[in-house]
Amino acid sequence: MAKVTVKLAERSYPIDISPKALRSAANLFPGSPRQILIVTNPTVAEHYLQPLLSVLHSHHVEVFNMQDGEEYKSLTTYADIMQQLISAGFNRDCAIIALGGGVVGDLAGFVASTYQRGVDFYQIPTTLLAQVDSSVGGKTAINHPLGKNLIGAFYQPLAVLIDTDCLQTLSARNYRSGLAEVVKYGVIYDAEFFHWLEDHVAELRNRDTAALTYAIERSCAIKAEVVAADERESGIRALLNLGHTFGHAIEAATHYGEWTHGEAVAAGTVIASKLSEVTQKLSSSDFRRVADLLNQLGLPIKAPQMPWQDWLSYMQRDKKVKDGRLHFVLPTAIGSAEVVSNIEHETIAAVITECC
Ligand code: NAD
Repeated sequence: MAKVTVKLAERSYPIDISPKALRSAANLFPGSPRQILIVTNPTVAEHYLQPLLSVLHSHHVEVFNMQDGEEYKSLTTYADIMQQLISAGFNRDCAIIALGGGVVGDLAGFVASTYQRGVDFYQIPTTLLAQVDSSVGGKTAINHPLGKNLIGAFYQPLAVLIDTDCLQTLSARNYRSGLAEVVKYGVIYDAEFFHWLEDHVAELRNRDTAALTYAIERSCAIKAEVVAADERESGIRALLNLGHTFGHAIEAATHYGEWTHGEAVAAGTVIASKLSEVTQKLSSSDFRRVADLLNQLGLPIKAPQMPWQDWLSYMQRDKKVKDGRLHFVLPTAIGSAEVVSNIEHETIAAVITECC
């Protein structure tokens, strides 16, 4: 078993990573019986709800089985969960568990942050993206018809339990999407980890347990370090958005469905790396290594074609735009990156054209 701690003083919490971790979920609730709400969806519940319920049998457990899909990370689902909590008489000592991917985790976390002004929250992430990224760091949110993640809160879980066996039932596409975020950590923060990823492409593609455990542990450790240094994203945490400004434009242009988040981030990372090469921050050989690794992991490295005006308008709607200026996270070498905001639009447009 691997263990990582997110160090946030009195709000510090453990991330436990192992195959079969689900079986130890009862350890999250020692002592007297608790009121516990598990938020999940039918796809995840089919495999993992019964195993979780069986180890929590001594508690009063309710389940909210939300519909599967990004469109249900909504105000309506939020209100439905609140209704269930209130109807079931859940008090301030209750706990909420998110059992699922990033959609379930973001929504359940926001519910936990607001029910009775905040109740205990636990993450049991079941997609690779959720295990290496969304379950760690305390960003919770729901979508509004006018934009993604517009309503939310910073609210840290009390623990994250990562069962690597859950990844065996994940679709190939969702699995690959999570790998895009794993690569991100190597690019922005850890050259040695990037090199390790290059050396373990075959194992990662085969979902080898030992390779996955290490990749998840290292990703969580990097995210934990970055979040501990900058919980509310006023500095270094912004580097975690590598590829995301371009990626969000791709997701928005394709109506949040055609491309997964990870696929859009992969193509966005290639554009960011090319922009960095063209503006002479990144060597051509490092650019090649980033594009080659994403490609070998089965991720798209070409963005869809759309007019520059569309790119611009989608990128300007991104939450990371400040004072109307576009900010980009650009790698400066494998293992380091910086935020840059003074690039001419002509240069950005030319690079995007080259990467489509
Ligand atoms: P998701 O939650 O929609 O899961 C993808 C699909 O996999 C779903 O159909 C789900 O039911 C299914 N699934 C989940 N676990 C499974 C398993 N073990 N076996 C089989 N199927 C399984 O998508 P995601 O990629 O996990 O998360 C995307 C969401 O995460 C977005 O809403 C995004 O905004 C959010 N996000 C949040 C943060 C953050 O810091 N909070 C960071 C990145 C992304």
